[in-house]
Amino acid sequence: MIAPTLLIQIHIMPELPEVETVKRGIATHIENKIIQQVSVRERRLRWEVPEQLAIILPGQRVETVTRRGKYLLLKCTLGHLLIHLGMSGRLLVVNPEVPLKKHDHVDFIFDHQQCLRYHDPRRFGCILWTTEPVEQHPLLVNLGIEPLENHALGDYLFHLARKKDIAVKKFIMDNHIVVGVGNIYANESLFSAGIHPLRPVSSINLAEFQQLGTLIQQILTTAIAQGGTTLKDFTNSEGHAGYFQQELKIYGRVGEACHCGEIIQHVKIAQRASYFCPRCQL
Ligand SMILES: [Zn+2]
Repeated sequence: MIAPTLLIQIHIMPELPEVETVKRGIATHIENKIIQQVSVRERRLRWEVPEQLAIILPGQRVETVTRRGKYLLLKCTLGHLLIHLGMSGRLLVVNPEVPLKKHDHVDFIFDHQQCLRYHDPRRFGCILWTTEPVEQHPLLVNLGIEPLENHALGDYLFHLARKKDIAVKKFIMDNHIVVGVGNIYANESLFSAGIHPLRPVSSINLAEFQQLGTLIQQILTTAIAQGGTTLKDFTNSEGHAGYFQQELKIYGRVGEACHCGEIIQHVKIAQRASYFCPRCQL
């Protein structure tokens, strides 16, 4: 009998909540399981998938699955796998006999007849291996704080913002300051906080940053909860619409009326689409 397919599907660029949802989804299937075989069909991701994986991973146990920023960290017996989903990456837990689809680049086959399958049409993701302390990995060492693990997020942002003169939206989206505040979440949290996305960070007071920090945490937490809820519905299913449908108050709504009646406007900040209400956000 073929075990049910767990499909973790993402149609927009994976952000922190999506990666957290994927982490939780795959962890229950692969933690404490032993890798039996690795098949790499396409090595050319953002960086080359190391050739040694097929030799060194078989026999190793995946001890834990954690996340740092948007990197999934699979702690194995002798080191860590780092997986990033890039722009279009997906991880599926399937029976190894499930036929391959186009862009199914890598299989990690486990001894309990489950397969962690990496799918990535645009190939901006990565799968890397390190035996060094993983937090010192060049891709991780300069990452900012985890927004959901820092209770005083607003205070932290306020203190870092003192000597800076950049737009608040660019500031909260800077991965060296805080990870995981992607474009949608930055737009939504600034709208809810009533802060204009172009406002210089040095002009934002502590109370405003505290409120913004709380809103960022609430929005990410809600998104993770929605992803987790929907994930259950995706067991045994294939190819449905993306799970990540949440109600957006401002993002993508240029030209529509805000709840205050004002028309929502659009501006590019650091190449990213930014939406705001000129009456509600000062
Ligand atoms: Zn408004």
